[in-house]
Amino acid sequence: MSGTTPEYAGPADGETGFDRPLHFTLPGRNARGRVVRLGPVLDTILSSHAYPAPIRRLLAEALTVTALLGTLLKDGLGQLTMQAKTEDGAVELLVCDYRAGELRGYARHDRSRLDELGPTPSLFSLFGEGFLAITFDLASTNQRYQGIVPLEGASLAEACERYFAQSEQVPTLIRVAVDNTPGDCLAGGILVQHLAEGEEGRERLHVRMDHPEWDHVSALAGSISHDELLDPALGLETIVWRLFHEEREIRVETGAALTRGCRCSVEHYRDVLSRFPAVDRVEMQNDEGLIVVDCAFCSREFAIDIPD
Ligand SMILES: [Zn+2]
Repeated sequence: MSGTTPEYAGPADGETGFDRPLHFTLPGRNARGRVVRLGPVLDTILSSHAYPAPIRRLLAEALTVTALLGTLLKDGLGQLTMQAKTEDGAVELLVCDYRAGELRGYARHDRSRLDELGPTPSLFSLFGEGFLAITFDLASTNQRYQGIVPLEGASLAEACERYFAQSEQVPTLIRVAVDNTPGDCLAGGILVQHLAEGEEGRERLHVRMDHPEWDHVSALAGSISHDELLDPALGLETIVWRLFHEEREIRVETGAALTRGCRCSVEHYRDVLSRFPAVDRVEMQNDEGLIVVDCAFCSREFAIDIPD
């Protein structure tokens, strides 16, 4: 894939909401949600890698889910990390993270095993018996919450729904659509959650996944189509309005713009390498005495010199 910036026929942001999530709440239903449509940011991230189509699609889906989950963080500098891991699948590791509007991600896979799976492999055939770990790192309090669930379901979105049900006891609906055109990849997603018995942060003593209020909201949200999530002519507010226009009140708020962000730097790698034993570092050096490392997220190469 080329590294050029793609051009879009539609508006870059604003009404169509490319790379800028929309937050919404339905106060009368104790529900909150996010809608996001990834455009240029997705191509920027994907263009760092020459992934085959099934991996591109998987990573696009993962980045969309990561954006939806990341924007739930109230902590402005908190980080959301999504990791999918397996011992026996064609995809060995998938990592995406979100911090303050910055998204990044990569997938490590076995090309020959992937090719055996055909053009549209299922989540199970990609990962086998895998696990999904979702980690919320809160910068303000230095707290870390991690939940790990089996990687089950037809999609990553479904596996994440199970994470919220099992690890957090929060009924959650996630839908993601991906248009996997190389160099012009688009993805759209919606997340809706029921905050049992009221306000965010309140302790949930009696969790009911079958709350009638939630049944209603999830049925409405679940009626969204792939085409609606992807259609650049359909603004994010229009989507929310279409789904919930019969509700007494819908509050919407524009979220922070999404960009590709990577935190790799010479200093970062020098710090990592300095923790290796000196003898190992010598083995890693090239003829010029430099250690060449490349960032898994953005494929940038760094030549690091470490003074003895
Ligand atoms: Zn990087």
